[in-house]
Amino acid sequence: MNTERSAEYFKRAKEMFPGGVNSPVRAFGSVDGDPLFIDKAEGPYMWDVDGNEFIDFCCSWGPMILGHKHPKVLAAIEEAVNKGSSFGAPSYYSLELAELIVQNHRFIEMMRFVSSGTEAVMSAVRLARGYTGKSKIVKFEGCYHGHVDHLLVKAGSGLATFGVSSSAGVPDAFAQETLVADLNDVEALEALFAANAEDIACVILEPIPANNGLLLQERSYLLAIKALCEKYGSLLIFDEVISGFRVGFEGASGWYDVAADIYTFGKIIGGGMPVGAFAASKEIMGHVAPLGAVYQAGTLSANPVAMAAGLATIKECLSEDFYQNQGRRTAYFTGALNDFLLENKYPIKLVQMGSIFWLRFAEERISKASQIDPKSMQYFKKMHPLLLENGIYLGPSGYEVGFVSSAHSLEILDKAIETFQKCFKEVLG
Ligand SMILES: *Cc1c(COP(=O)(O)O)cnc(C)c1O
Repeated sequence: MNTERSAEYFKRAKEMFPGGVNSPVRAFGSVDGDPLFIDKAEGPYMWDVDGNEFIDFCCSWGPMILGHKHPKVLAAIEEAVNKGSSFGAPSYYSLELAELIVQNHRFIEMMRFVSSGTEAVMSAVRLARGYTGKSKIVKFEGCYHGHVDHLLVKAGSGLATFGVSSSAGVPDAFAQETLVADLNDVEALEALFAANAEDIACVILEPIPANNGLLLQERSYLLAIKALCEKYGSLLIFDEVISGFRVGFEGASGWYDVAADIYTFGKIIGGGMPVGAFAASKEIMGHVAPLGAVYQAGTLSANPVAMAAGLATIKECLSEDFYQNQGRRTAYFTGALNDFLLENKYPIKLVQMGSIFWLRFAEERISKASQIDPKSMQYFKKMHPLLLENGIYLGPSGYEVGFVSSAHSLEILDKAIETFQKCFKEVLG
């Protein structure tokens, strides 16, 4: 594969950006490679600046659920931008998008748009603290919530119940406000609550953890978390930045039929433009400025062009059988590959939920971050460049999930299945 131009651009980019990138995972560090500069994309395909073609299963890390350059999204963006790109005043698209979401989501009454998932989470946590008047928060090992200070925290060692920072620049005092628990362990969470009974403002989790492998949880576990929150007067935040509008219109909340108190969204909600949102009941959202005392603002919040892209995307997601179709095609893809892996006795499985999948280099179910053997990533390291050479683009880390868009037809998936099989054989013998 010729990657001359990407290599030259990356060399220049390293002078301009730390590690040559504007978001760390893009540097291809965990697959020991150099990133490809992408020139353009359409439907399920992307092309790099050297003209190599890929079937794209990264889908911009989730937002492109309709594939790239969907005609309706493109038209909506064109219409919006022709009217002007930012006003710093209310515009109609945001209203229509919010109404459409509220009408089709049982657990949401009101929302606020922001410009990224990180911003949505940061604001949701502030709202939970402002609402409850408490300061500690609980998060889980293996869930990612963006680069918010008090969420860049991992479990402390030994007997410490508070977290320690997982990034330089996060003061210990912040990290100590965050309690970290293991997923799929109700007793540990009960103990955490008991030890901090008066202090926990909220529990935040990805109800479908999809940033550290795909660590599927049970409905009963989500209900147990919810019951603990109710018992101790804490709010439950579902971070649905990935799962929202992905596994169904109501995301994980609808899939499991479990309601949270506050929701955070991102990715799909902007249809490829920078959008995030946090949402809740009117009673809780009433605490946000200017109605309430929790301050939150944004110069480019609800940017009209971004709202138009989100609106066009969300409308397509509401079309009949959209999610059944997504799930069916993804299951076709993962099913065919799982049959192949089983036949060949390869110790690998594709875990699937809706149109999300993850290459699990282990035979047993994995529901906690600590169950992933870091050594198993050596297989992914070999798979990734091989898949690229054969025209398949996956996110450059074995801890990342893949996405199937509505543009991934059965025909394209067949092509991908064949390529995956060939690459599995080459890596595993
Ligand atoms: C991507 C992601 C975020 C952060 O969103 P950004 O738009 O990257 O800031 C937060 N939470 C979850 C679950 C995510 O997947």
